[in-house]
Amino acid sequence: MAKDPRRKGRPKRPADVFRKAVEAEATRDVHEFGTCLLCGGAVQMVGFWTPTKRFYRLFGFDETKAGVVMYSLCKPCADRPDSMTSVEERLIEERLREQVLGV
Ligand SMILES: [Zn+2]
Repeated sequence: MAKDPRRKGRPKRPADVFRKAVEAEATRDVHEFGTCLLCGGAVQMVGFWTPTKRFYRLFGFDETKAGVVMYSLCKPCADRPDSMTSVEERLIEERLREQVLGV
């Protein structure tokens, strides 16, 4: 889409551009995720988790930069009040299992 020089409004911040790109990618790939991370149900949404620094190495991130981990959930799991805690625990648990057992 060509940029209209008469267009008003605030300029796009890099964070906005990044967020839109990630959302577009997630929407495109939502069906490739397979199942809900927590219950194995049908995927209805994709989320992004930014691990705290102590988990950077576990997820293979550069020690100095934050990274994001994508995950997918069904609507009932996403609506659970403790869903974010469960997602973090499951992502860490799966990553540890991959590293220890190689599966
Ligand atoms: Zn679920």
